[in-house]
Amino acid sequence: MTLAEMLERQTRPAAPALVESIDKNRVRCYACGHACPIPDGAAGVCRVRFNRGGTLMAPWGYVGGVQCDPIEKKPFFHVRPGALAYSFGMLGCDMHCAYCQNWITSQALRDPRAVSSSLGADAEALAADAVRQGASIVVSTYNEPLITSEWAVEIFKHAKAQGLMTGFVSNGNGTPQVLEYLRPWIDLFKVDLKTFDDRRYRELGGRLEPILDTIRRLHEMGIWVEIVTLLVPGFNDSEPELERLTSFLASVSPDIPWHVTAFYQNYKMTDPTNTTPAMLKRAAAIGRRNGLLFVYAGNLPGDVDDLEDTHCPGCGTALVERYGYHIHDYRLTPSGACPSCGRTIPGRWATTFDGQVTSRPFSPRPSRERTQN
Ligand code: SF4
Repeated sequence: MTLAEMLERQTRPAAPALVESIDKNRVRCYACGHACPIPDGAAGVCRVRFNRGGTLMAPWGYVGGVQCDPIEKKPFFHVRPGALAYSFGMLGCDMHCAYCQNWITSQALRDPRAVSSSLGADAEALAADAVRQGASIVVSTYNEPLITSEWAVEIFKHAKAQGLMTGFVSNGNGTPQVLEYLRPWIDLFKVDLKTFDDRRYRELGGRLEPILDTIRRLHEMGIWVEIVTLLVPGFNDSEPELERLTSFLASVSPDIPWHVTAFYQNYKMTDPTNTTPAMLKRAAAIGRRNGLLFVYAGNLPGDVDDLEDTHCPGCGTALVERYGYHIHDYRLTPSGACPSCGRTIPGRWATTFDGQVTSRPFSPRPSRERTQN
């Protein structure tokens, strides 16, 4: 049996909120910004949602991988520093980035070199496993979670019943329908803002506007948002582009953390050089100049001055000091404020810092560990 045939069995009718009947058994899917019109017998762009006899079928009841990671690896820097994030993924993506760091799972249905498998799973058991492993957050990641939203929500319902937080690590190619559907069940959303050039987005299989709309809506909804931009030399790092990108984020809210991370040659994109510390620092300076209060440089621990740390925008006090995914020091008050000047620091902080909830060393490096977020 092929992977596609196996996955076809691991489905359920899509959530009614994410589907609309058009005509002659055609349906429109609203799980992602493509909003595919899908004829009977065909699949959408993602290849994991398909129309069977006028019913839109959605992935259900399996995982492609499960792993406990530090929350800093997602990366969320303003969410319970040191906490463990129980991370699960399914298979497939609605885009096809040439530099994808999770291509084994995201491109499983497009690229024959991406050899992945699925494991049948029970949502309640996954949430219980998260608790057993000491996680306080459950995150849908590795593939594009929007296209598998129904199964994520099923897991999140059980996770919330256990007192856990929930989040997506996503490309942000959402729709108003899918964000409303997720809203009651999700606390955190990391959006990969890959470029600010619509032409470039189309090369990757998306469009810029739905992603910007997702960021605006998430912020309005009160879901905690952090943004990551993988800085690819020659692809998305020109000064005018970074000016526009960071100005947009600051216009939504200067409080949104922006992580600018280093590219390593990967998957089909092997032409650009790797990102240097100087390139990250330059991009970070542009973000700060445009008003962003929390700018971080990632993937090059120890080489980016203080850009791994959280500082109080009011008085400059170092509040959380990091090296890679390690928390070296934590000084926020129990209410999430600066101990020196009392300024409230935006985020989803724990009332106490219990140290790093892991015995494993976590530092990004050019290895399999770095390639899975
Ligand atoms: S999830 Fe996106 S790509 Fe997949 S069928 Fe729905 S709209 Fe199309």
